[in-house]
Amino acid sequence: MSSLHALTCRECGRQYPEGPLHFCEYCFGPLEVTYDYDALAGLADPRRIAAGPANLWRYCSLLPVDAGEKVSLGAGWTPLVRARRLGEELGLEELYVKNDTVNPTGSFKDRVVSVALSKARQLGFKVAACASTGNLANSVAAHAAAAGLDSVVLIPVGLEQVKVLTTAVFGGRLLEVEGNYDDVNRLCGELASEYPDWAFVNVNLRPYYAEGSKTLAFEVAEQLGWSLPDHVVVPVASGSQLTKIDKGFRELVRLGLVAPRPGRQPDDPAGPVRVSGAQAAGCSPVATAFAEGSDVVLPVRPDTIAKSLSIGNPADGYYALEVVRRTGGQLAAVSDEEIRAGIRLLARTEGIFAETAGGVTIATLARLAREGAIAPGERVVAYVTGNGLKTVEALAEGWASRERVGASLAAVVEAIESPRSHKEDQ
Ligand SMILES: *Cc1c(COP(=O)(O)O)cnc(C)c1O
Ligand SMILES: [Zn+2]
Repeated sequence: MSSLHALTCRECGRQYPEGPLHFCEYCFGPLEVTYDYDALAGLADPRRIAAGPANLWRYCSLLPVDAGEKVSLGAGWTPLVRARRLGEELGLEELYVKNDTVNPTGSFKDRVVSVALSKARQLGFKVAACASTGNLANSVAAHAAAAGLDSVVLIPVGLEQVKVLTTAVFGGRLLEVEGNYDDVNRLCGELASEYPDWAFVNVNLRPYYAEGSKTLAFEVAEQLGWSLPDHVVVPVASGSQLTKIDKGFRELVRLGLVAPRPGRQPDDPAGPVRVSGAQAAGCSPVATAFAEGSDVVLPVRPDTIAKSLSIGNPADGYYALEVVRRTGGQLAAVSDEEIRAGIRLLARTEGIFAETAGGVTIATLARLAREGAIAPGERVVAYVTGNGLKTVEALAEGWASRERVGASLAAVVEAIESPRSHKEDQ
């Protein structure tokens, strides 16, 4: 199997055999997994995929992990919700929400970790490690526990309490660094040279980790009856997920698993699906570069309630910009107030409680719909990537809306019959 994939430098195209390597030794460009698509074409067909497990490993032929036991808690194959009520409010006729809040540890990070640690196990690693803004910490600690690997997880101070607790419970080492995520990430880069026998999922195993996000594109296409959306809205932290969703859609067209959208050629250089990115205004280095028409993503110091997206110096920011520009998408940055409103809007229209990153996506979707950057007739998918139970403190006090009543039938009926005493969510 392994001859089907290799590591290729995104800048100079040099190829490397598979292993724990993430940058090119000649030009320091990032490495990416590339495939022998002619050989893959015969292996991936809809019937074989449909006969696979109800998790992301149904796409194992399109992932860089050899046959054999996988590290899996069952991530993936999450609902694609036809969001009629939200669509009506936003004036969008065919809107879907990809509900990744229901993954085993409550975020899409379970996808990338399952792929990275399966590879790590194949390569013989015994220790799983990562730099995390919170969700990755949960996921690495949980998957490592299930796989019998030791784990060492580094997080910045000041994360949501739930994310710290739901990492610690799995029993690995948890180091809270007195700095921000970008400090943690730099330290992990240094630690990866200090401890070459540790699998840092988003450092030395990053090319494999990143491939896990392609399943967000594969599932949407399969759930749409092997067809494509016109436009997707994706939250951006490091930018990895956004670039791999685009890669996933392009692979499906290339392998003939889906037809391009009407009027498009299979080899259209723009790519088959418009990809828009969502950031918080308090950490918007990629959206800022987009607004300024620049190719240079200047680092920022994050200050937003969207902590899971708080990467001030995004590793894949440049490539995310490239995808958005090439596909004709947009990038927007939304305020903390818009994020809270986005969380409440999704909850009250679709019954889905998202974390702050989901609020960023929904607020961006609302903004793009309002401004006409998304046309009413487009088939749109919004990626909601994390569970609201992890970030309850982001919702201001007053939003735990309830009315105190006495413990008698008369008191309860009186409350029901009188106007609501708390302000209505808008
Ligand atoms: C990490 C994360 C993202 C963004 O991931 P990148 O690939 O780093 O851009 C989005 N949503 C949630 C909930 C996350 O935890
Ligand atoms: Zn190179």
